[in-house]
Amino acid sequence: MNPQAPSGSWIRTDHMDAAEREGEVTGEVIKMIHGELPAVRWACAICGEDNCSIFFEPEANQRTLECEVCGASNVVHKEHDA
Ligand SMILES: [Zn+2]
Repeated sequence: MNPQAPSGSWIRTDHMDAAEREGEVTGEVIKMIHGELPAVRWACAICGEDNCSIFFEPEANQRTLECEVCGASNVVHKEHDA
């Protein structure tokens, strides 16, 4: 119980592991694998490194992906190429 913590607020604490770092980014569809699986390029929100991931659910508009460089979780939003 911490009386100073407003309930319902998301608070980053020092107890959090490095692995629990999380970012949110928009990815770019660079190509379609077998014409149906979108390969998405995205940059890690934490360390800025480029990553490329395949969305195995073509209808999914976002996926939580782990950065291969720093291990942070990134919520990657799939950008539709118009
Ligand atoms: Zn990273």
